[in-house]
Amino acid sequence: MTYYDAHCHLHEYSDNDIKDFLDNDLVIVGVSDDLESTVRTLKLREKFGERVIPCVGIHPWNAAKTVERDVERVIELAERFDVKCLGEIGLDLVFVPESLDKQIKIFVEFLEYVKGRDLVLNIHSPGAWSRVLQLLNRYDVAKALFHWFTGPQEVLKEIRSHDYMISINPSVKIQNKHLEIARKIDIEGFVIESDGPYNYKGLQLSPKMIFSTIKFLSEIKNMSLEELIKNIEINFKKLFIS
Ligand SMILES: [Zn+2]
Repeated sequence: MTYYDAHCHLHEYSDNDIKDFLDNDLVIVGVSDDLESTVRTLKLREKFGERVIPCVGIHPWNAAKTVERDVERVIELAERFDVKCLGEIGLDLVFVPESLDKQIKIFVEFLEYVKGRDLVLNIHSPGAWSRVLQLLNRYDVAKALFHWFTGPQEVLKEIRSHDYMISINPSVKIQNKHLEIARKIDIEGFVIESDGPYNYKGLQLSPKMIFSTIKFLSEIKNMSLEELIKNIEINFKKLFIS
């Protein structure tokens, strides 16, 4: 059995930790936060092979300190290594609203690169869900994952109407608004993520939590574990491996 982590900051882990995750039957989507982590994420793909799916990008939290050349370099690397996923990119009006203009500038540069290419976007969007959606529509983005989605139900509907997906985080066990989303989301609309090694209210997130999260969700969704695992695999492959 293979399990899928759709959003993890793999570059922050040691090679030994990563080997351990992969030995536990995981396929991991490694997102990047800036130019430096983009370079490391691409090296991890080279070192560990297909079980690491690299995404390159600049996290909205890093927008303020990013220089133009960094964005260009990340895009050059995406092209040179034929990277199929951009992330973690997007907008954030909750944690870093003060840098919004710069965030939009950087996000749009990535969207311009995506136009006409078959790429998936690994999206960060706290408080900026609708603005992100508008931009995705403007740039005809076909495939996007709203990671750890905690926004309003109406936005969730809109996300699904465009056939975009969300990822459910292990925090679903303790974060009520995320739990509500998990209850509402249709079975074709989600994958699982860890967002490791982020620490959420004392919960040390890790790819090792993927299985327990699926188990928890099988009760929420009233589905057998087997059926749910199969569904998640289909959704994951539709996004990242098609
Ligand atoms: Zn993240």
